[in-house]
Amino acid sequence: MKRLTYLILAFTVLMPHMAQAETRIFACEPEWAALANEIGGDKVAVTSATSGTEDPHHVRAKPSLLAAMRRADVVFCTGAGLEAGWLPVLMQQAADAQVQPGNPGNLMASSFVRLMNPPAKIDRAMGDVHPEGNPHIQTDPRNIVAVAKGFTERLAQIDVENAGYYQGRLGDFTQRFQGMITASESAAKSLKGAPVVVYHDEWAYLNRWLGLNEVATLEAKPGIPPTASHLQDVLATSRNAGVKMILLAPFDDDQAAKWLAGQIGAKIVRLPFTVGGRPGTETLQATFETTVKSLTQP
Ligand SMILES: [Zn+2]
Repeated sequence: MKRLTYLILAFTVLMPHMAQAETRIFACEPEWAALANEIGGDKVAVTSATSGTEDPHHVRAKPSLLAAMRRADVVFCTGAGLEAGWLPVLMQQAADAQVQPGNPGNLMASSFVRLMNPPAKIDRAMGDVHPEGNPHIQTDPRNIVAVAKGFTERLAQIDVENAGYYQGRLGDFTQRFQGMITASESAAKSLKGAPVVVYHDEWAYLNRWLGLNEVATLEAKPGIPPTASHLQDVLATSRNAGVKMILLAPFDDDQAAKWLAGQIGAKIVRLPFTVGGRPGTETLQATFETTVKSLTQP
């Protein structure tokens, strides 16, 4: 009887803590959802607005996303215009004040990274979907490390009580991740200088990291599908450079890539792009390991 009383008492004391809400995180892309889980552990509840096989430029603001946005304590996205076509609509319809831009609950991963290829002037008139520079920062694991640090600091600021827990998990994550980066760099040494063609300018950070030489994009401009005359230019450039690989994200159309591959005898390589983009890429670490494996396989 005494033991039972003690148990009930223990439960009553513990209950408020158990019932205490986790920090609810609305991640725009799977890489930030995965990172939020790595750092937040069981203190966070994470929703990803997109899956690894969806193009993050184009997302439908469906009711389930509005519901997730309504519950969010933190909005964790890439920024830099990547979600310009859908996030503002969601935020306007469903977001609380704490996740609006300028508040701690609004966190843009691109703010922790120097963007590649910032345009001289912002011009969307030609349909360019990279108005602030290249937003596809998640393809370089060193960017992930920088974002992890920024995210942890912010999370610790929002949930002060668990700050030590988050810092500890950041330390573990960074150590494991750094090991993967070193191993990947060594495995990918033979790729240095290899000329590649991409569909969309979505591998700029990956190519810079591993030293791949991007000679052309099949798209005429970011977000603008290939045109016949542009493809003729790409063909000439690719022949000249001796391109052996054409890199595609899981959601990229492969019609132009197949044509070019046939013309020059190159291989089409579908890379994960993000967590869940290919089979066996359930974690950030596995995503990069699969990427390097796909690039180095003969
Ligand atoms: Zn893009």
